[in-house]
Order: sequence, then C-alpha cells, then structure tokens
Amino acid sequence: MIERAFTMTVGGSPVHTAESIEVIDPATEAVLAEAPRATEMDLESAIAAARDAFPGWRSRGLDDRRAAVRAIAVVLRDNRDELAALLTSEQGKPFALARGEIDRAAMWADGVADLEWEERVAEDTEQHRVRVRRVPLGVVGAIVPWNFPVTLAVWKIAPALLTGNTVVLKPSPMTPLTGLRLGELLRDVLPAGVLNVITGGDELGPWMTSHPGFDKIAFTGSSATGKRVMASASEHLTRVTLELGGNDAAVVLPDVDVAEIAPTLYWACFSNSSQYCLATKRLYVHDDVYDDLARALRDYGLSVRIGNGMAEGVQLGPIQNRTQFDKVQGYIEQSREAGHRFVLETPIEEPSGYFIGPVIVDDPPADAPIVTEEPFGPIVPMLRFTDVDAVIDAVNSSPYGLGGSVWSADTEAATAIAERIESGVVWVNEIHALSPQFPMGGRKESGIGRENGIEGLLEYTATQALAVRK
Ligand code: NAD
Repeated sequence: MIERAFTMTVGGSPVHTAESIEVIDPATEAVLAEAPRATEMDLESAIAAARDAFPGWRSRGLDDRRAAVRAIAVVLRDNRDELAALLTSEQGKPFALARGEIDRAAMWADGVADLEWEERVAEDTEQHRVRVRRVPLGVVGAIVPWNFPVTLAVWKIAPALLTGNTVVLKPSPMTPLTGLRLGELLRDVLPAGVLNVITGGDELGPWMTSHPGFDKIAFTGSSATGKRVMASASEHLTRVTLELGGNDAAVVLPDVDVAEIAPTLYWACFSNSSQYCLATKRLYVHDDVYDDLARALRDYGLSVRIGNGMAEGVQLGPIQNRTQFDKVQGYIEQSREAGHRFVLETPIEEPSGYFIGPVIVDDPPADAPIVTEEPFGPIVPMLRFTDVDAVIDAVNSSPYGLGGSVWSADTEAATAIAERIESGVVWVNEIHALSPQFPMGGRKESGIGRENGIEGLLEYTATQALAVRK
C-alpha cells in the first residue's frame, strides 16, 4: 500500500476530501492507495477556478502557451520513473510499457506545442473584410478512461491549453493516481486554475456532463457511456468530443509472409492486454494462409511472458479491474459453451490478480458475440475468408468504425481495400502508428470528432467570423 496522501489540484492548491475511493492493484488485488472522492462542492470549486483562470490564460501570447505545454513534457520526462511505477501499480501494464506511455505523453505535448494554425480571410471586398478566427471555448471537462490514463489525459490537456482554454481533468476512478500526481507536479509549472484535477466515484462524470459551467466535454471511454455523455451534455448544448469503442478488423491477404507477420498481428491484438480502443478485435485471414498463420500465432503466443508488470521481462500484465475481468471471462465461457475451437489458449501461472491469458477463437460464426461485440480484453476471433468484397462487407457491417488494417505484399491492392473500410484510421502493413500530427477518432458508434492533428486541435476552438465594414 502506498502510504502518501494523493490530493486533487484546484486553483493551484492541494485539496483533500472527507471521503475516498480505494484503488486496487490489479496484479495482486490488494488495496494500493486511497484517492480523493470529490463532492459536488469540489466540482463547483474546480469549475470556478478554471473559469477565473480563463481570461488571463486566453490573453497570454501563443508563444507563452506553447512554452507551457512544452513544460508539461519536461515534467513528464523528469518524473518518468515515478509516474511509470504508479501507472504499473494502478493499471497493470508492464513497467517498460508504462515508461513508454509517459515518454509518449511527453512527445505528444511537444508535438502539440509545435502545431500551427492560421486564421483566414474569407472575403475581402470593397465593402468589408471578413476574418475567420479560432477562439478558445472556455472551460473544458476532460474525462479519461483507465487503459492509457496518462496519454489520454495529455491528448486533451495539451491541445486545450495551447488553444487558450482551461481544464478540469477527471481521471477514471480505477486509475486516479497518475492523473492526481501529474496535477501535483504541474502546480508550480502552470498558472493557478489553468489545470485542475479532481477524482471521485461513478457520480462525478455525470455531474460534470450535466453542469452548465463546462463549454466542452472531451470524453474517451466506451460507446455506451459516450451516448450517456452526449445525452447529458445536450441539456446545455455543451460541445462534445467522443472517442469511443471499436471493433477493428485486420484483413490479411494470401501473399503475406506468415512468419514475419505473426508477431506483429499478435501484438496488434493483445498489446496492453487488448485494453486498447484500436486493438485488432477481428482477424480476417485468407484461406490460403489461415492454417499457417494460426500455427504461427499459437507458437508465438505461447512464448509471451505474462505476469506482474513490475517483474523483469513481463510482456503482458493483468486485466485492469474486476468488472472487466469478469466480462472477458464471460466471453471465453460463452465461446466454449458454443463449441468454438481455440487456436490459442494461454496458461496463467500467477496465484492472484486479474490475469487472463490471450485466447484466439478458431473461425466462429459471423454472428457470435465475440465477433460482433467489443470484449476489450484478450480474446480475438480469427475468421477465414476467400472473397475480398465479402470480407469488406463483413468488416463494415460493424456498428463501430474506429480503426483497422490491411496486410499484403501488394501495397497498392491493400491500399485499395483500406480505402473501402469505414473507419477513422486505417493502416496498411503497419498498425498503431499514431502521432500528434494526424487526426484520430471514430465513425459511427466509435465517436464524434477527432483528437490530434489540426483537426483535433481546432475542436478546442470556436469559429468566429469577424466582418469589418470598410
Ligand atoms: P467508461 O466509459 O466506463 O469510462 C470512461 C470514463 O468515463 C471514466 O473516467 C468514467 O469514470 C467516466 N464515466 C463513466 N460513466 C460516466 C457518465 N455517465 N458520464 C460521464 N462520465 C462517465 O470506459 P472505460 O471502461 O474506462 O474504458 C474502456 C472503453 O474506452 C472501451 O470501450 C474503449 O474502446 C474505449 N476507449 C476509446 C478510445 C478512443 O480514443 N476512441 C481510447 C481508449 C479507450
């Protein structure tokens, strides 16, 4: 158990609460720490602090705000090991990957700070001149899930602050510690009230989305919750960006090099124990290479080390929480009861913790829940195909449209298929390459709006057409 008290950050000051929430280490199921449980009054204070800080922050020069966002990157790097250890303890991911997440978040802050956008002149006639300006919205509520608690927080904080907004960040109650610690570390770096961090129970998110004090809610989480967020935010017509669930497909054509591609596809499916919105959740494999790839995935999968993320050499950690663990076990049981065969079942040796070894299901029916739903855990269906048009129809039949990938020795043919996939991001012969420079987000029930790139950045602004009579 971590003995230190974690505090919320409101108006640049630490805030303790009378009640707390227990944070569980998913690798041991032991209580790791207590986190503050915000009251409605705490939320009011955080919004008021962000509101008070807004005019000063908005009127700072852009170069100042760029420097502040870069300073976040410095803080992340300077405290990388401490933050990574906290992240592994509360989230479960292997320590090396936790360090990678902190580094990536720092790289993101730097990358966002470098983004350039310009106002444009829409009309310039004898009568008048119309400038199209981008102005900050005001106070942004940032709501973050438990799978990438640091990266997904920085994806919101950096563009919101750069464009002149102030922020109230709410980490997930499952993984509150890294967000709280980041708030503590940034108290001396950012002006008071520019970034506030509050944590609480399941009641805090709905309080935020229905509160008239927010000008925008930037939300990442499940599609079911995203719909509730949008319904709630509609009361005050609060702007939303919704980054939601996915059921991404990988389409593997018959000309691939099976030995080379198997480890890549394994990690496409199972990295972060598949708790990744952009994880490959359906593997469509051409009949010509299906059996060879199944064998290669099985052999590779059995060589992967699963265990406590703090142990040396571990490649996959536990499922992050009990609810998710039960849900994923439910999918495995359902498949077993339906008589599906398994290409891969991975044994677990840990005595406790929410561990589930990756499972690949052998060609289940197209309407099996494991094909049509998002388990958000390490069970993936491998589906045999022969006809490309039929497979594209199958891929696009999902209500989700987040990411996807196509794999082939023929880049041109693969690209032609990728262009027909109805999703916000599609990769050809690579996967999970993301950057601050290009937009990412979903179509259909995978979300509304984009994060990253100029498109994502501008979602933190309002368009103002300023017409001046000559
Ligand atoms: P979740 O929807 O349960 O929770 C996400 C956040 O919303 C948490 O902070 C939670 O406390 C808060 N919340 C819960 N109910 C709320 C409500 N009614 N109103 C406002 N806030 C509420 O999601 P999760 O289980 O933490 O994360 C997993 C899901 O997130 C998966 O579906 C995954 O695909 C998705 N995800 C999407 C992206 C993306 O960029 N598209 C990235 C990561 C995760």
